[in-house]
Amino acid sequence: MSPSAPEANVSRSRVVVVGAGFAGFQAARTLSRTVRNTAEIVVLNPTDYFLYLPLLPQVAAGTLEPRRVTVSIPDTLPRVRLVLGEAGRVDLAGRRVHYTDPEGVSGELEYDRLILAVGSVNRLLPVPGIAEHAHGFRGLPEALYLRDHITRQIELATDASAEESASRRTFVVVGAGYTGTEVAAQGTMFTDALARRQHPRRQSERPRWVLLDVADRVLPGLDRRLSSTADRVLRRRGVDVRTGTSVEEATRTGVRLDDGEFIGTRTVIWCVGVRPDPLVSQVGLPVEHGRLLVDPRLTVPGHPDVFACGDAAAVPDLTRPGEYTPMTAQHAARQGKLAGLNVAASLGHGEQRSYKHHDLGFAVDLGGVSAAANPLGIPLSGPLAGAVTRGYHLAAMPGNRVRVAADWLLDAVLPRQSVQLGLVRSWSVPLDTASPELARVPGGPSTKE
Ligand SMILES: Cc1cc2nc3c(=O)[nH]c(=O)nc-3n(C[C@H](O)[C@H](O)[C@H](O)COP(=O)(O)OP(=O)(O)OC[C@H]3O[C@@H](n4cnc5c(N)ncnc54)[C@H](O)[C@@H]3O)c2cc1C
Repeated sequence: MSPSAPEANVSRSRVVVVGAGFAGFQAARTLSRTVRNTAEIVVLNPTDYFLYLPLLPQVAAGTLEPRRVTVSIPDTLPRVRLVLGEAGRVDLAGRRVHYTDPEGVSGELEYDRLILAVGSVNRLLPVPGIAEHAHGFRGLPEALYLRDHITRQIELATDASAEESASRRTFVVVGAGYTGTEVAAQGTMFTDALARRQHPRRQSERPRWVLLDVADRVLPGLDRRLSSTADRVLRRRGVDVRTGTSVEEATRTGVRLDDGEFIGTRTVIWCVGVRPDPLVSQVGLPVEHGRLLVDPRLTVPGHPDVFACGDAAAVPDLTRPGEYTPMTAQHAARQGKLAGLNVAASLGHGEQRSYKHHDLGFAVDLGGVSAAANPLGIPLSGPLAGAVTRGYHLAAMPGNRVRVAADWLLDAVLPRQSVQLGLVRSWSVPLDTASPELARVPGGPSTKE
């Protein structure tokens, strides 16, 4: 036990939940409601919030303010102890999780039950220049940074040469899964709005979005009807959709495609998918494509005190024998709930159950009133799909719903606020370059009228 995480009550069993995404948050919530105060529940997570990832493209596009897509862990899980930090090692024999807190201090947490719910990370392919020049899209800082960067590109384009302006106004999204498709669809609306407010001499030059995928259609993993709806909306908005295409190289000034074409751009957004968090492979237990193998009760075989769920776990899909459940929010949240119940059962509260969930469909928000959705397998498009999609998100969010709905309402009636927040590196004035005169002023620098 580290000095920063003092022992609260040694007589109670301790459940440590690593990760507070869809799976971990629901696991901790369900567990705390089921066991009440008879067990100590500790959540180890790098941030003090749960992040509702499906709405992240709307943060990048300026529709939602960043805090809207977060749900505070201390506010919503009052019986749970939050330890801020990132797990680095799991000692199964010693029943300990070693972690590092946000200030670099190491600590460890002993557990009686462990729930691993660390989710996934960006999948990086060995394409030259991507690691240096592309923007990732996985967390709140990345979405906010991207919003600032896009705003700056449009603003800088105003006074640039024709060639530079074209490159600054070109945005390339690599990967047309749900994230890339939403980023491109919503990004177009955002940059059109930004461009309309620029100097009239550049207003005729519309920003250009290019969406690439090696697959033969957008939304390749989803129902074909969703793909065709999304494709139609994207092309109607002017997005240059290139299927069967990949990137060979990225540089500071553009990307080279596998057909040899070079597209000048200052913005490459990497949305090629995710892979399970690398912590999973380091635990030393059997994995399936990087996901921790569990049985239908979400327990690791041979380790009845270790549970895993969400993107980090390979959970047998009992509705499709021989397959594992896909990495989606829908499954992660439900598995999290069940992990909470099954851990509670292992502590004497109720019976353990197996995970079985029939997919309820998917919803892709394309911005404005457009969406592509297939709730319960019924394909929808247009404003009806838009309403269903937003209703679904509001129902699925574990908090902050009123603020999200209010932002949507405001976005429908007011222009988007498009100022940069200064996240993209800018000129700075380091203290050692301050004028000697100012530096000599007792009590620090002052201004002269
Ligand atoms: C931009 C984006 C949009 C998406 N849109 C959709 C969508 O529309 N519909 C859909 O179904 N799915 C969507 N997904 C996928 C969905 O978000 C994931 O399937 C879901 O988040 C998985 O939940 P999880 O709890 O397993 O992982 P996460 O939600 O990723 O949570 C993992 C948590 O663990 C924490 N963590 C990671 N490593 C450590 C560590 N070492 N120590 C402690 N904590 C750690 C993370 O900080 C995070 O809080 C989207 C994903 C992204 C990135």
